[in-house]
Amino acid sequence: MRTLVVDHPLVTHKLTALRDEATDTATFRSLTAELVTLLAYEATREMRVQPLSVTTPVGPAQGVKLARPVPLIVPVLRAGIGMLDGMTRLLPMADVGFVGLRRDEESLIASTYADRLPTDLNDRDTFVLDPMLATGGTLATVISMLVSRGAASVTAICLLAAPEGLRRVEEAFAGEETDAGPWVRVVTAAVDERLNERGYIVPGLGDAGDRLFGRI
Ligand code: URA
Repeated sequence: MRTLVVDHPLVTHKLTALRDEATDTATFRSLTAELVTLLAYEATREMRVQPLSVTTPVGPAQGVKLARPVPLIVPVLRAGIGMLDGMTRLLPMADVGFVGLRRDEESLIASTYADRLPTDLNDRDTFVLDPMLATGGTLATVISMLVSRGAASVTAICLLAAPEGLRRVEEAFAGEETDAGPWVRVVTAAVDERLNERGYIVPGLGDAGDRLFGRI
């Protein structure tokens, strides 16, 4: 598994504003979308393309278009929905699937309550949207679902990651990095210090779902 921490002043600037507890919901939403678009720019760097010839008003030009099948974006319910706009801004042709996992607050173990994914992901690049890579349990489960359906690649885009979560995903998918098989990557704006006893990232930004959609 590869981890890419996007080191860019705009990314850090927007992440700092997201962390600030004084940032209101409307601003939090628009900043999340902007930050995801910046992360997605890096996350899509290795997407496969095929040659394309076009004719400009001046003459023929050689270029590329994204290879088919179209990528699949998978926001993890509920907080991942807040990242969807920023992602589809960059990949408007992509399909979108949904996965919902519920985390038991005591055991911190995740169980699936929604699975709206294609059964066959053969040859498809997939992008998982989950703002907080905390224990890594949710992300490891979603990646397994995608790999078992044949995804060519799985790239998780997370606003923030904890070292514990990265280690867990790394351990689970260490063998996936082969020339022929699917590969797994995490793209994030920062790796924070640690998790606290409630499974929150420290210093983090709090509960991403609550800050995007309110406490319900
Ligand atoms: N989920 C969140 O929303 N925040 C955290 O810090 C960890 C998990």
